[in-house]
Amino acid sequence: MKLLKFGGTSVANAPNIQRVKSIIANNQDKQVVVVSAFGGVTDLLLNALELAASGDVSYREVIAQIEARHFDAIKTLFPVTAQSSIISKVKSELNELETLLEGAFLIGETTSRLSDKVVSYGELLSSYIISEYFKTEGLDASLKSGRELIVTNANFGNASVDFKTTNAVCQSFFKDQNHQITVVPGFVAATAKGDATTLGRGGSDYTAAIIAAALEAEKLEIWTDVSGLFTANPKLVKQAKCVTHISYEEAMELSHFGAKVIYPPTIQPVLHKQIPIIIKNTFEPEKEGTLITKNTNGGGKTVRGISHIEHISLLSLEGPGMVGIPGISKRFFETISTIGVSVVLITQASSEHSICIGIADKDVEKAVQAVNEAFEYEIASNKLHPVVVESNLAIVALVGDNMKSHQGLSGKMFATLGKNNVNIRAIAQGASERNISTVINKVDIKKALNALHEAFFEENTKQLNLFVMGCGNVGSKLLAQLEQQHKYLKKELKLNVRVIGISNSKKMIFDEGGIALTQWKTALDAGEKTDRAAFIQKVKELNLRNSIFVDNTANAEIASTYSDYLSNSISVVTCNKIACSSEYQNYLSLKQLAKKYNAPFLFETNVGAGLPILDTLKHLIVSGDKVKKIQAVLSGSLNFVFNNFNNSTTFHDVVKQAQEQGYTEPDPTIDLSGVDVARKILILARESGYQLELEDIENNSFLPEESLQTSSNEDFFASLVKFESDFQKLYKSAADKNCKLKYVAQFEDGKAKVGLQEIPQGHDFYNLEGSDNIVLFYTERYPQQPLIIKGAGAGADVTASGIFADIVRIGNF
Ligand code: ADP
Ligand code: ASP
Ligand code: MG
Repeated sequence: MKLLKFGGTSVANAPNIQRVKSIIANNQDKQVVVVSAFGGVTDLLLNALELAASGDVSYREVIAQIEARHFDAIKTLFPVTAQSSIISKVKSELNELETLLEGAFLIGETTSRLSDKVVSYGELLSSYIISEYFKTEGLDASLKSGRELIVTNANFGNASVDFKTTNAVCQSFFKDQNHQITVVPGFVAATAKGDATTLGRGGSDYTAAIIAAALEAEKLEIWTDVSGLFTANPKLVKQAKCVTHISYEEAMELSHFGAKVIYPPTIQPVLHKQIPIIIKNTFEPEKEGTLITKNTNGGGKTVRGISHIEHISLLSLEGPGMVGIPGISKRFFETISTIGVSVVLITQASSEHSICIGIADKDVEKAVQAVNEAFEYEIASNKLHPVVVESNLAIVALVGDNMKSHQGLSGKMFATLGKNNVNIRAIAQGASERNISTVINKVDIKKALNALHEAFFEENTKQLNLFVMGCGNVGSKLLAQLEQQHKYLKKELKLNVRVIGISNSKKMIFDEGGIALTQWKTALDAGEKTDRAAFIQKVKELNLRNSIFVDNTANAEIASTYSDYLSNSISVVTCNKIACSSEYQNYLSLKQLAKKYNAPFLFETNVGAGLPILDTLKHLIVSGDKVKKIQAVLSGSLNFVFNNFNNSTTFHDVVKQAQEQGYTEPDPTIDLSGVDVARKILILARESGYQLELEDIENNSFLPEESLQTSSNEDFFASLVKFESDFQKLYKSAADKNCKLKYVAQFEDGKAKVGLQEIPQGHDFYNLEGSDNIVLFYTERYPQQPLIIKGAGAGADVTASGIFADIVRIGNF
């Protein structure tokens, strides 16, 4: 005898039912086929009852919806001639249902007895339609109601099975059953007196297990909408993998903690008889699925799965008198159990000053009232405080048989959650050590599951999720580099770098699965209109682990949003200098936020584009060195300009060329006025540990006042033409002395200045080519011979690679 159970999605509609038929038609053995209600119908029934009981006539619309679902299936599954008798039977059942709901509507209330009756219609209808369909298709099928096979007590809503009677009934019925296929509605049962009961939500699995155990079936097949039991819920964790073999205990633990692919009580009856369970996918029957048996060696793994339960509240009872009052825990748990609320998790601090339990959100009101009443005297006499409730929480649990023999798992779990800024509200470890549970905020579930999955199952691959603001010169180069290096990063550095959001000043796009970087331009063109507030909101809402905001703009407004990202544990990588060169207090507070929220704030490209200047400086400082003096040529743009400007070119043309080749800021006055260099030396001084403001920096601009005052690029360039002779004079003065013009930044004794200098032959700066930058650090350890960093210090490609390097730094963080 084979036992197969098909869940709600597997029988949700006609095409799915046709699949089910082809799966069972392949079997030659005798089969019991347990079916759920059509997917979603149980919820609709409960919803209709709730509406009716609250006096809302729209319950009738819900019934119409239920009717349509069933009629639609019938119309596809049966030839026209056979339809009318099936439809009329279904209609008469629905009429009965309507009468029950009308009763609830008139009385204005419901009971769990009525609820069981109402909710049974889902399975009763589906099993009837499916068994008739099998017959029409020429299979030797018959229908047997679960109500006639499974006998329970009268605990409506979640009845307990009377196994002795049930086993006897099942055995005697199937002994004489001659049909090859028996279709049985799952979930429904009855008391010995014949009152309708149900086995709890998800209970069709249990029906199948009860019959399998009674008949000592060779195995129990659970057919569902996923290809087995996964390392985490595959709907939330894309990287989850199927666990091909797992023990009954591990499966039970995972299902108790939310892996609803198998209803927890299901395992008990088959475990007893050691009947293997196999979980298969109706939609991909060729996939191996998961085998659940007694012993597995755990595949050598300690953690077998991560599961979670949503809608959890913590209830804490505490107070100064806690230690002195005997039997507090006993009374507390008795109270909770008397009102039929199930306790999902318990923690008690060893000081015994508080007991804390996790229960379902829906039970909170009733539990709080009961506990406060039970301890009324102690609360009134200030020995205990009234119960404290925290809702909108979730439990995330690591499960595995072999966890007990390994140290460090909980450490790794908490560290992973901590790094991702997931706040842990409570912790529990079962004595079996098959489970470590944490209570976290509901909003963090997806992030926590994915981060833990990455830490425990993905061979150290770390996923970085980027949100890229600005995709002009630098941004587009960065995206191209990320595209090109994607495979390398994954293979060699175990970094899976994905771009989740891109925005320019006009459009923005998001794709939680990662934007295809070969087509980002087309996708962005078709994106929604840019809205900066909505962009931040979306990044926060997605709440992805290792999120990084990448600013490729030079925009002040965007620079002012960093604090918002950092305080949500979103790292910031930027080539935009505005934030780090703004008021010292702002710079400092960004650095503090980064520390507090464990979210790196990196801006290597603020000085010298891709050159490792700030990183080197950071290493000098952390190793205890002290910066005494900095001398530098920090403007790739000005260097390019003065290297190309001579008496056979014009200043205007050279600046234009620099702009066209991407060597200047979008607004070239920022470079030419020296402001850009001043910002850079300011950042170097600050990173060296000095507190300085931009106004403190002496800036001797070589530009005429009129050029500095222009308000558009056009006017600015026109002014350059106007003052050409002044620029030629600067050139001539230097050339006459065999010097070259360099725009130099200097920091010494806590003071900084920037300005144009005539550099003689032999000086370190003399031979700087093209757009090169150079920085000389004189420190305690490099007093005479400075530490020198030199190389191309401007250009989209090198800036992009500097940003890239910061992203990788965060990956290795
Ligand atoms: P059925 O209607 O077939 O009984 P359920 O919806 O009850 O199906 O259970 C299947 C669902 O269980 C999957 O679609 C998946 O979302 C969820 N699930 C949760 N955790 C896991 C897990 N660890 N492995 C597989 N599925 C899981
Ligand atoms: N139909 C019931 C439910 O949705 C039982 C089941 O599908 O297992 O809970
Ligand atoms: Mg289920």
